[in-house]
Amino acid sequence: MKKLVLVVALAAGSLLPAQCLAWGKIGHGLVAEVAFSMLDNGTKQRVQQCLGDMSIEQAANWMDEIKGDHSKDFMKPWHYVNIADGATYTEAKEGDVINELTRVIEELHHSDKMSKEEVKEHVLILFHLVGDLHQPLHVGYATDKGGNTVQVTYNGHGTNLHRVWDSEIIEHEHIDLAACQAAGKVFGSKEIAGLSVVNVQQWMQQARKELKSVYDIKDGTIDDAYVARNKPVIEKEIYIAGVRLAAVLKDVFKP
Ligand SMILES: [Zn+2]
Repeated sequence: MKKLVLVVALAAGSLLPAQCLAWGKIGHGLVAEVAFSMLDNGTKQRVQQCLGDMSIEQAANWMDEIKGDHSKDFMKPWHYVNIADGATYTEAKEGDVINELTRVIEELHHSDKMSKEEVKEHVLILFHLVGDLHQPLHVGYATDKGGNTVQVTYNGHGTNLHRVWDSEIIEHEHIDLAACQAAGKVFGSKEIAGLSVVNVQQWMQQARKELKSVYDIKDGTIDDAYVARNKPVIEKEIYIAGVRLAAVLKDVFKP
């Protein structure tokens, strides 16, 4: 029995690295929900038609769901980019979140030349990568694998910083659509227009500005002060990601 428990525990543990590669399920779903809350009915219908029977939350999580499908292994490096502090971005040969998101947005502008399946796959990649780009640890540093090797304590258990940002604060603090929309209230219509301008490298630079706060950890503990400071950052980043996803969808799916 003991052995079985251990095997199960190991199997469960082996799933963790894959989960650590993105905002968790909830975070990605919220990005899609913020975006849809900003679209008119016609656009929503055209996007939904493209997705078929997939929900927008499923669409936003598709790139994580396919991680067991080895024919899609080439997409694994697309979820993030590593840039040293003070360095400038250089394209990764195997692809990264910046060049793939840029490519997908560009190609979607010629969707009339693509098959229905190709358009759908592009849209699924778009939904997911806009989210990843706004998780600061997806645009962080190679030295600690985007916070994956930074061990911390949160609510009395050992975890790593990347996981805390992907899902643990979101889940523990019950961050939902209303909270993200409330965080977005600080932006006036002029600022929303500014945020909606498509410039993937600029989007990445903005998300990286939050890294200072991300790494401001006392004694390896994610304490109440840390959560109080960074919960609004998470809500704001999800909101901004949603604004930008909506902007691209509006453009691509205009009648
Ligand atoms: Zn991802």
